[in-house]
Amino acid sequence: MNVAKISQYLLKIGQPKFRVNQVSENYYLAKFNSFEEMTNISKDLRLKLSENFSFLSIKEDDMVESKNSLKARLKLADNLYIETVLLKYKDWNTVCVSTQVGCAMGCTFCATGSMGFKRNLTTEEIVDQIIYWKQKGIDVSRIVFMGMGEPFMNWQNVRQALIDIHSNLKIGWRKMTVSTVGVIEGIEEFISWGQQVNLAISLHSLNQETREKIMPSTKVYKLNELIKICHRYTNQTKRLLFFEYALMDGINDTDTDAYKLSDLVNSNKLFFANIIKLNMVKTSKIRPSRRTDQFCRILDVNRVKYSRRMSMGSEINGACGQLIS
Ligand code: SAH
Ligand code: SF4
Repeated sequence: MNVAKISQYLLKIGQPKFRVNQVSENYYLAKFNSFEEMTNISKDLRLKLSENFSFLSIKEDDMVESKNSLKARLKLADNLYIETVLLKYKDWNTVCVSTQVGCAMGCTFCATGSMGFKRNLTTEEIVDQIIYWKQKGIDVSRIVFMGMGEPFMNWQNVRQALIDIHSNLKIGWRKMTVSTVGVIEGIEEFISWGQQVNLAISLHSLNQETREKIMPSTKVYKLNELIKICHRYTNQTKRLLFFEYALMDGINDTDTDAYKLSDLVNSNKLFFANIIKLNMVKTSKIRPSRRTDQFCRILDVNRVKYSRRMSMGSEINGACGQLIS
């Protein structure tokens, strides 16, 4: 729901401020599926709102469920599609939101990358992905910006969505994570914004050439620049920085790669690595590594701070990099 536009409209037709708040509270509580259901406001007003506005900017097209994850395909007003994933952990639920339709960055191991870029999502379309899950009665307490798209290529709308989610959906800054392929100017803006949202960097290799092969955008956003700004991030924020490293067969999984990653993570006490199992996608020939144990043993010997991240949702193609519409 476009709260700003609706608020403006309500004030224009002479509604009091408290009515405006009531409508936006109704929306963020996500107990209602339409204006018609908001029986705490007058019938006449409900009718006016449903005639002039759509309740949600997205519409469920399909939803698939597995043991610990749910994936929905959502239709946008211009008939494009995006996906959003709900990950059910033991003690909380995380929503993985999309920020763009497609993605321009073209990473070869990622299904979204193979779609090319269609358009940015609006703030409303980002927030509505969370409202969508809440409407199903699901308690959402964490958000990861790891769905379709590169958040820093749509930073204005992503930033406003973070602000909305924090102030209206009452999800703490520290419960949200933005993941980037390494858009330097985006990371700069993120640092100067200064909120305590987590940052994850999709590193995947410490070799400039290899990165360029699998992540074409890194021809512009060079590894040495990226590492420099990562140190600046921790210096200025004093917060942990997460490096995502999906192990790919014969690409980034040698012992030398493991030593390089060890050196990087050990160079800063606030660096942390997430070792991820690569998810197979139809659009790519890259396979998951067969050397995960050997790779992690080197990290262990070097006392690297890392976790081996389980990949939820892969059985419904809802895991990282499998989102395609
Ligand atoms: N564009 C941002 C956020 C969306 S991608 C980024 O690239 O960081 C979210 C995460 O999924 C990234 O860490 C990305 O590298 C990872 N990813 C993409 N394809 C994957 C795959 N096939 N298997 C595992 N992780 C993948
Ligand atoms: Fe875009 Fe991220 Fe996929 Fe790369 S991994 S194509 S940046 S969504």
